[in-house]
Amino acid sequence: AAPIALVAGMSRSSRNGIVVKNGTTIEKLATAKSFSFDKTGTITEGALYIDQLSYTSSYTEKTFLQLVASAEQESGHVIARSIVREAKEKGVALLPVKDLEEVTGQGVVCFIEGNEVKVGKSTFVGKKDVHRLTNEVAVFVAVNGVMIGHVTMKDQVRQEAKETMQMLKAGGVESIHLLTGDKQEVADSIADQVGIDVVHADCLPQDKIAYIQEIPAPLRPTVMVGDGVNDAPALSVADIGIAMGAHGSTAASESADIVILKDDLAKVAQARDIAKRTMVVAK
Ligand code: ADP
Ligand code: MG
Repeated sequence: AAPIALVAGMSRSSRNGIVVKNGTTIEKLATAKSFSFDKTGTITEGALYIDQLSYTSSYTEKTFLQLVASAEQESGHVIARSIVREAKEKGVALLPVKDLEEVTGQGVVCFIEGNEVKVGKSTFVGKKDVHRLTNEVAVFVAVNGVMIGHVTMKDQVRQEAKETMQMLKAGGVESIHLLTGDKQEVADSIADQVGIDVVHADCLPQDKIAYIQEIPAPLRPTVMVGDGVNDAPALSVADIGIAMGAHGSTAASESADIVILKDDLAKVAQARDIAKRTMVVAK
């Protein structure tokens, strides 16, 4: 297409809070055949709320929350940020941490007062998952290898998610995929609620990359939409990477071809719409 048309498309996108870094992205987005969405923070809201704290008798609500929030204080994950926010609201003082390590898409491990503290998904902490509702995420906590409790957090599906999937399909998108580090039954239920066709659960960041790379030719160009540090590599390997920039990580925004500045998933469908209309005008 004529560069001038692409520039017009970029400026139209930008007026709508959609930053398109390169004109050729508009051409690809207009003909995209498939979309993959990350779950936590992308299909669901970025702000989580603690639902329940379960801990062994050597802790109180306050000391348990203090331990978890302290371990999470440096993490940019939406789960971590929500835990730290709630701890601060409750007046819990954070403890200093040593040798902190974040394992992307899994959790954090560090030392607090000489003890090894591990916080993250069940497989990372080495414990069995708990039964939970599909609008909840669970975070497990172990001290020196012994499970001491878990936190469940409410994670609502975005109200605009279903409509966004409908708009994409109405605009000619053939298949929509859900990629998540969370477990299968939670992912299946969310996909069902919002109208996503294909689910790939229990993904590590490298599984998300492999999945995107293996999307077959008839489903290309393919788009990946995500918000987290763990989504950044998948955003780079997709034909088009879209970052939810309002609450998402810097790494995601830097790896993406398009950054959505408003915390609104419907902007993804709007971006596609603008791209299509730009190409019609350009012809
Ligand atoms: P999704 O792919 O659905 O966005 P992630 O891959 O970001 O989810 O995370 C998958 C799971 O890993 C989360 O549900 C959570 O249990 C765990 N997890 C990842 N990072 C953290 C962290 N910093 N603190 C606690 N749990 C984490
Ligand atoms: Mg996410």
